[in-house]
Amino acid sequence: MSMNPESHESLEDSARLSGWEPDVWIELSQGALAHNVALFRSLLAPGCRFMAVVKANAYGHGMVPIAQAALAAGADWLGVFHAGEGLTLRDHGVTAPILVLGPTPPESMRRAVDAGLCLTVASPGAADALVRACAGQTGARAHLKVETGTHRQGFDAAQLINAAQQLVAAGIAVEGLYTHYADIEDTTDHTYAESQLARFSELRAQLAAEGVSVPLSHTACTAAAILFPATHFDMVRVGIGLYGLWPSKETRVSAGMLGRDQIELRPVMTWKTRIRQIKTVPAGSYIGYGRTFRTTHDSRVAILPVGYADGYDRHFSSRAHVLVRGVRAPVLGRICMNLTMIDVTDIADAAPGDEVVLLGQSGDEAVQAADLGSLAGTIHYEIVTRAAPCAPRRWVP
Ligand SMILES: *Cc1c(COP(=O)(O)O)cnc(C)c1O
Repeated sequence: MSMNPESHESLEDSARLSGWEPDVWIELSQGALAHNVALFRSLLAPGCRFMAVVKANAYGHGMVPIAQAALAAGADWLGVFHAGEGLTLRDHGVTAPILVLGPTPPESMRRAVDAGLCLTVASPGAADALVRACAGQTGARAHLKVETGTHRQGFDAAQLINAAQQLVAAGIAVEGLYTHYADIEDTTDHTYAESQLARFSELRAQLAAEGVSVPLSHTACTAAAILFPATHFDMVRVGIGLYGLWPSKETRVSAGMLGRDQIELRPVMTWKTRIRQIKTVPAGSYIGYGRTFRTTHDSRVAILPVGYADGYDRHFSSRAHVLVRGVRAPVLGRICMNLTMIDVTDIADAAPGDEVVLLGQSGDEAVQAADLGSLAGTIHYEIVTRAAPCAPRRWVP
């Protein structure tokens, strides 16, 4: 498998810094990613396509390496948000079909179409703009997004039929029809999602009755892909599950209730740094800005070269744990911009140069993205998406 593990500008992109050991880095498990793709594939009927959603730098994992590895592991399509992300993938030699999930500005449409990107069209204005951008040219492919209850992007029934007929008349292929669920990962009561699915099926039938047959219908994100085969249609769009994370506790509980709890996702990301210094501080010493933590006993304090500038959220101050030699070490006091202090008093062997796991597994212990999300008052999607944006990504088996 040929893949470039560097997704974007990073320390290792500079020749001057080649061989330089980074302070912070992210390891991507190739085995975990391949396992997750195979797992989702096993849930799909034959012929159902698998879209790997790699928007937001592949949820912080690294767009180019994840896209290449997901395709090698059996994904059929890639989903990005911005057309520019799709162009970057093309520049890296990715030839697979790519759907742009977000709105493409009219002035970028021609270039996106020329690069073979499939564009989401979700408003009458976007349909007009695409027809104008593609005047006299062929090869454009559109996926129409319909409103079923999220009230974010999407056509209502009348607009849908007009737009579909307008695109077809202009020689633009209406290749896909899709929608997105509002609360499928937020609850174990799926009544609202069921109503969205029913609305989608209705709109799809109306379009067919008008003589527009669309080859690819798709509605399922990770939670829907796991819980409800009826949402799969011709393709599923999997983001968080591809990275080995459950969408939510509610999805896990729902899977249990549906007898689907044998599903095992494997986290792809491990976020690491190293101990740079260890010092002994006497009982009664303050640690860090604001003097929010004071030692109650003589302590060994390790200094880590990572902070909120790296996405290690300031809400983790005095609350999170990191893993040193497979043992939990608590964060002491406030997370700084580029530094974090931890307590290694009870980890006798801890030494400068030791690897530290900020997120992921070490020995039998794990720091989970969901736990860090709770500490920061947010969801784990945000924790991984904002992890160390400038740090190198490296494949591990
Ligand atoms: C981000 C996104 C997904 C993926 O959702 P997950 O819950 O991460 O699987 C699917 N569809 C659309 C339209 C999205 O924007």
